[in-house]
Amino acid sequence: MKPHMLVLAAGLLFAAIPAGHAADTAAQPTPQSATQPSSAGVYRFAVGDLRVAALSDGTLPLGIKPLVKGLPPERIDALLAERFERDPLETSINAFLIEAGPRLLLVDTGAGQLFGPYGGKLPASLAAAGYRPDQVTDILLTHIHTDHSGGLALDGRMVFPNATVHVGQADVDFFLDRGNLARGLQARHYDEAVATVGLYLKAGKVKPFAEQSEILPGVTAIPTPGHTPGHAFYRVASRGETIEFWGDIIHVGPVQFPHPEATVAFDIDQDAARAQRLKRFAEEAGSGQLTAAAHLGFPGLGRLRRDDDAYRWVPVEYRNRE
Ligand SMILES: [Zn+2]
Repeated sequence: MKPHMLVLAAGLLFAAIPAGHAADTAAQPTPQSATQPSSAGVYRFAVGDLRVAALSDGTLPLGIKPLVKGLPPERIDALLAERFERDPLETSINAFLIEAGPRLLLVDTGAGQLFGPYGGKLPASLAAAGYRPDQVTDILLTHIHTDHSGGLALDGRMVFPNATVHVGQADVDFFLDRGNLARGLQARHYDEAVATVGLYLKAGKVKPFAEQSEILPGVTAIPTPGHTPGHAFYRVASRGETIEFWGDIIHVGPVQFPHPEATVAFDIDQDAARAQRLKRFAEEAGSGQLTAAAHLGFPGLGRLRRDDDAYRWVPVEYRNRE
């Protein structure tokens, strides 16, 4: 998502929140929270030999009708009503932790302090999962948007000082090049990218990829441009089991599964984002592929089914045992 749309969606609420407020609430984990074995912001599961956890960065009320492109407002209301929901739709910001032997991987980092009163809970969720930010060895960014890369920095410092940041080269090229201000990049997005990803770039800690490739043992980066130029999936495999992290190929489940042709205002290239979703959904539906999505209701885990031209998301059953 793009921050300016969220500001619009939330009725300019963020603008009234002093920056320091968010900084306080998104502070480093406390010893108390680290001793709690579980919380609503952590959902553990296994993929082969890997222990994986969905980590909540929080939720926010997202205005859907100003966001979705290509559907009449009454159709959007009807789709939400089918789910006993209404606009604005409470929308999750999910990140994911993968314990992979000596490595600790984090898929996306939440919004940090950049969404005002919303988001910024990732450090607390990480602590509840039993880890400190300095233990994270690798960050897999699905793309450079504030709700995915905003958590990289706090008060001008790297939150994950020992981590290498993996990200699509095309997103680095787009969001961190001032020259793109004349080509559709907004000044605020440039500034936020510099303040977050830019810190790691300066420190020599960014490893971009341009093509589908195995960037770490068992971890494949799959470029899926459209929502952003360098948007990527990550496929993680262990002992014959796989999971794919889908980032922002889907934002509004109740609307875009029945209407996968509908785009959102956050999509930088509307046509490419639509084509990418239609292609990937067609490929994945019915495969049984376990999938993790950034903005479907926490923990954002499920599988896809095809229903003529529409799709159905089947969330995983809740499991709470070892
Ligand atoms: Zn997003």
